[in-house]
Amino acid sequence: MKKLLSIFLAISILFSLTSCNTKISKRPDKMVVYASFYPLYDLTKKIAGNNAIVQNIIPPGVEPHDWEPTTKQVADIEGASLVIYLGLGMDSWINKVETSVSGPKFVNVSTGIDTIKVGNAVNPHVWLSPKESLILAKNIKNALTENDKKNKKYYESNYENLVKALKQLDNEYTTKLKNTKTKTFIVYHSAFDYIARDYGLNQVSIVGMSEEAEASPAKIAEVIKLIKDKNIKYIFTEPLTSPKPIQSIASETGAKVLPLNTIEGLTKDEMDKGYDYITLMKQNVDNLQNALN
Ligand SMILES: [Zn+2]
Repeated sequence: MKKLLSIFLAISILFSLTSCNTKISKRPDKMVVYASFYPLYDLTKKIAGNNAIVQNIIPPGVEPHDWEPTTKQVADIEGASLVIYLGLGMDSWINKVETSVSGPKFVNVSTGIDTIKVGNAVNPHVWLSPKESLILAKNIKNALTENDKKNKKYYESNYENLVKALKQLDNEYTTKLKNTKTKTFIVYHSAFDYIARDYGLNQVSIVGMSEEAEASPAKIAEVIKLIKDKNIKYIFTEPLTSPKPIQSIASETGAKVLPLNTIEGLTKDEMDKGYDYITLMKQNVDNLQNALN
């Protein structure tokens, strides 16, 4: 009987442990925060530390433009206190979530950013410039401290550390990109407008703001001509999607391909290596510096 009882106990402990991992809403001692995609998730996690449970809504390895949540994913968000999203057309599916759930508060963290307009649309890729990420971090910190006042000091201290790291990153971008030999860099989709604006570079993209778009033969021909005319040695690919036209332009012109990460989501390989927003931003500036010199 005693043996049976201990087996029963062991099984129930096991069950309660696994349910702790999957059903986060059963841990009301910590605030639960959802972030709409990777860069917001990573910045939020750095400020929240161990005092809140932060979840990324978009699964790893998935390209977020035009992504839509499943009914189950929407239902999971109901249990959260806070949903952090970017707006600017990057995560417009969030509107559907907001009307379907009543639990969490929704905070748009791009408020206050001087955005770049392309025709009628806004370029959403603000997180790729350290200067704009400083604004995102501040808005995230405000959202966390307003919704979980008992941990205000803790969040503020983590935020100060993040600001230090982002300012260091900003300095690195300024220094490394200031005196490069050329200023023009070629990418697949126009994710790097904010780096170009904030650090004095000129981005040429093959498709528009979403990598879902098809590359037109005319644009590809134009880029090939530009590479030959300006004797450009490097072009950039995106690790998350590895767009094919980049490879064909490279073999046509002899230009070398370097990665420039849009940090819209991490590949499995990047996750296994323990990379985060800061490490990838450092890789980006080093690759840009190499390509432009
Ligand atoms: Zn993008």
